[in-house]
Amino acid sequence: MIISENSSGKNKSEEQQNIILKGMSLQELQKWAISVGQTRFRGTQLFEWMYREGVDNPTEMTNISKSFRAFLSDNCTFSTLKLKKISKSQTEPTQKFLFQLNDGQFIETVSIIENDRHTVCVSSQIGCNLECDFCATATLGFSRNLSAGEIVDQLIFIRKYIEQPITNIVFMGMGEPFLNYKRVMTAADIFHNPKGFNLASTRITISTGGIVPKIKQFIDENRKYKLAVSLNAPNDEIRSKIMPINNKWQIEEIIKAVKKYSNQKRRKIMFEYVLIKDVNDSSKDAQQLVKLLKNIDCKLNIIPYNEMGGKYQRPDEQTIDNFMQILFSNQGKVRVLTRWSKGQDIDAACGQLATKQMEIE
Ligand code: SF4
Repeated sequence: MIISENSSGKNKSEEQQNIILKGMSLQELQKWAISVGQTRFRGTQLFEWMYREGVDNPTEMTNISKSFRAFLSDNCTFSTLKLKKISKSQTEPTQKFLFQLNDGQFIETVSIIENDRHTVCVSSQIGCNLECDFCATATLGFSRNLSAGEIVDQLIFIRKYIEQPITNIVFMGMGEPFLNYKRVMTAADIFHNPKGFNLASTRITISTGGIVPKIKQFIDENRKYKLAVSLNAPNDEIRSKIMPINNKWQIEEIIKAVKKYSNQKRRKIMFEYVLIKDVNDSSKDAQQLVKLLKNIDCKLNIIPYNEMGGKYQRPDEQTIDNFMQILFSNQGKVRVLTRWSKGQDIDAACGQLATKQMEIE
């Protein structure tokens, strides 16, 4: 698909550069190359230059003819975002990147390094309309979906900026990935493609707040990527209070949908559970959670809440220990993990991404 932008007020050279290639899949680029009088192979070369090599300047695409490079320079826009700010954690090798998009809006992306593992947490939307009560992104409201190019460019930038190779990608930044399904899948396919980022499908995780029709679509399409569900409660009463999306698709429906996923060979579903003081952290909650998940081959990630000065708090250590003990002693098929979010001092931890205009110099 060629995206043309013909907005008024641009000068002639800006208007000419209106074909946005970043975000096109291999097939789309091959088709586009043919449509402008080139071979299918030219499309493959463009795919490799943009995604594998991270080159945005056509003059550097040395195996492409001079005349086509000139055409690309005159007619195509390659870069979809600009870096505005990097916040580095003082306590660990976690960095948060603030990007400005071509329409002037902002998104955040987080790079987390732990030994040999370099995980990038990408955004899929500007803001989010799921309104989870404990989440900073929700306070922004929803602005728009990101294009596949804007998702991929977050990775391209971080790969250039940080020397340590990216080993994992998680769609856990700003936004609900399954409400931008097609573009998220296109971006994930580019990350996975050997001519693109060449990352194993098991190293790419899509996290959803529980958009059941899209969970079903993901499973039916036999997508190879890992699936995570942000559960955060052992019952509908608690979940509906902190995640309004639960009024539309309740826990039973989610569990039913993901059982099909976990029944497929070597595909463990991941449940995330943000542990919040006096909301979902009691012994009764832990027991209910055990009961809820006992027949599912899954991982359960307990994430003690990252305080942001709002109405919610992190439980004290004893409460977290007690909650974990109940899970560990009854885990059955469930693999229980605790994840202490990274980058709390720079508001880069889970649920803390919320771009602030005032941060821009
Ligand atoms: S937790 Fe995720 S799904 Fe919920 S509002 Fe925040 S970004 Fe959206």
